[in-house]
Amino acid sequence: MSEVTELFAKNVFTLGKMKERLPKNVYKEVVQVMEKGGELSMDSANVVAKAMKDWAEENGATHYTHWFQPLTGITAEKHDAFVSLADEDGHMITEFSGKELIKGEPDASSFPSGGLRATFEARGYTAWDITSPAFLKESACGVILCIPTAFCSYTGEALDKKTPLLRSMEALSEQAIRIVRLFGNKEATRVTPMVGPEQEYFLVDTDLYLQRSDLMFAGRTLFGAPAPKGQEMEDHYFGVIRERVGSFMKDLNIELWKLGVTAKTQHNEVAPAQHELAPIFDTANIAVDHNQLVMETMKRVAIQHSMRCLLHEKPYAGVNGSGKHNNWSINTDNGINMLDPGDTPNENLQFLLVLACIMKAVDTHADLLRQSASDVGNDHRLGANEAPPAIISMFLGTQLEDVVKQLVETGVANSSIQGGKLETGVSTLPDLVKDATDRNRTSPFAFTGNKFEFRMVGSSDSIASPNTILNAIVAEAFDEAATELEAADNFEEALHDLIKRYMTKHQRIIFNGDGYADAWVREAERRGLPNIRSMIEAACALTTDKSVALFEKYGIFTRTELESREEIIYETYAKTINIEALTMIDMAGKQIIPAVVRYARTLADTVNAVKAAGASAEAEIDLLNQVSECLTIAQRAYSELKYRLNEAAVISDAKEQAFYYKDSVVVAMDALRAPCDELEMIVDKDVWPIPTYGELMFEV
Ligand code: ADP
Ligand code: MG
Repeated sequence: MSEVTELFAKNVFTLGKMKERLPKNVYKEVVQVMEKGGELSMDSANVVAKAMKDWAEENGATHYTHWFQPLTGITAEKHDAFVSLADEDGHMITEFSGKELIKGEPDASSFPSGGLRATFEARGYTAWDITSPAFLKESACGVILCIPTAFCSYTGEALDKKTPLLRSMEALSEQAIRIVRLFGNKEATRVTPMVGPEQEYFLVDTDLYLQRSDLMFAGRTLFGAPAPKGQEMEDHYFGVIRERVGSFMKDLNIELWKLGVTAKTQHNEVAPAQHELAPIFDTANIAVDHNQLVMETMKRVAIQHSMRCLLHEKPYAGVNGSGKHNNWSINTDNGINMLDPGDTPNENLQFLLVLACIMKAVDTHADLLRQSASDVGNDHRLGANEAPPAIISMFLGTQLEDVVKQLVETGVANSSIQGGKLETGVSTLPDLVKDATDRNRTSPFAFTGNKFEFRMVGSSDSIASPNTILNAIVAEAFDEAATELEAADNFEEALHDLIKRYMTKHQRIIFNGDGYADAWVREAERRGLPNIRSMIEAACALTTDKSVALFEKYGIFTRTELESREEIIYETYAKTINIEALTMIDMAGKQIIPAVVRYARTLADTVNAVKAAGASAEAEIDLLNQVSECLTIAQRAYSELKYRLNEAAVISDAKEQAFYYKDSVVVAMDALRAPCDELEMIVDKDVWPIPTYGELMFEV
């Protein structure tokens, strides 16, 4: 075995390890529950818990935790040592029961609940997600056994991102099975969404990071003039990986492999100091867990390399931001990827039905998809001046677009455009077999061969919500199609009719052109596609009648849960912008403005000295005037921002407050940044109090 295969999943209590360590009947019961649902008996749970603890202790674990994903978007853990009652002789023993494995009861009052509970109603429960394996986390804390769990309130509402995701996976499976049955597949018993998220991130030197309170508190720069060089040379993308970054990536991979995360692809991204990591796709809930581990491990390993990992969507103005491409497909347990069109999609009726359903789902619930990809940082990307636009559209590529066109126009599709050969023109190079379809970089929801790539998701965000929404909306479309087709007298005819009808009605969602162009914004408006520009404008998509009906029908969210989530969005937005604004006030008031005042003073002294020496001091006076002018503007903007923050603080309605932050505070922040960035460009570098963009991005 190679080092990697030996390392892989070393810290995971895999099915293989369970098979080795559990009695046959208990192992069978575990597999049964994983595959078919239901509950483990308490006796079996005790056996599993004992085996898990033994394994964990053999690997140095002292504590366990129910690892969960509250609505903060990150993970939470509270460690409990295995040690238990000392016996009469004063000895400690270690224990871990089935009950402790299956259920936890963290005091949950300080997690966001969006009004679901008052702070005095503290009780929350965590429940073991048996389909995601337990693992050992190694850190300065020692070794901790982590048990992936879902997190609910005392009254049963989901307080996390995991529970709705699991519910949506069940809904999708149930409806997708009906679809494959229509085509004679009797073997499949379950259909699973598979997800592969590509994670983008930035690295920055720790010493420089620690000199920037904006990076420390907000995760992004709130000031900063552009460096003389940005990404215009396009020399970073796929460029040679620098030694320091390479050594970080090497250690990161090892840590991830130990956790069973299939880290596979790594490369430099478009912006300087920006990189990407992609794992091999996995079952949606495991992919969600793993992506959390990826983000966490990136941060931890970066620190070991005297760097910090920035997961923010827009750490630096003027260069590319970071996203997370969420690759999604649906697979049956007898090995069929329902999104695989085959070589001749026009003949693959099951695929065409699935495609028609997805077109319908995405068009009908574009607002929900948009919402699922919004977070505060992503407002700087979506619909701002970079990829992808805030308008949801689907890219199908030349081949499928042509098939859809044939179906819409004539009701039948007789052919599929084929890729052909790409002649390299060099006799020693092989001719390449060309894909039938080129890629489209600007589409938010692109078909890429046998999966859809949802490209709107923010780099720092959990991928739980986007996948919950995808599963839910497609489940609904499958359900409606299956209901109609199951009742049809003539299946073939009804199928053709339905595919044509769905595709005709929802073809407006297809767009194969340049998603960045202004022309698309106008065209989308003409087509009636929503263009939702910000996170807080997207929030209300959760509680429309259409949305509540969808989620309640499939038991994914109750209306109350949806309302609470909308509320949390407003709160999160307001709090985040508040922190950013306070950080700006701090930096401007205590660092930037004082430094410029000192610089102006030196300039003034110079002017006097030069004049006293008999010269005109024209250049010095000119510079001094420029500096004073910018300083005056900065000082006014600084006061204005403070004033608006005070105004924001007294607004009691969460939604109203969030909109005040967006429309008033953010505007004032921009107004403060502009003169400060201008000053940075004219003030002596030696007096500038914080590291520059050039240093942050190029000294890694
Ligand atoms: P690119 O950057 O060219 O889009 P990458 O190889 O970086 O492609 O990432 C593609 C991601 O999609 C990987 O995480 C990969 O595992 C995942 N993926 C591939 N096939 C599927 C599939 N059928 N379903 C879901 N995800 C997939
Ligand atoms: Mg991609």
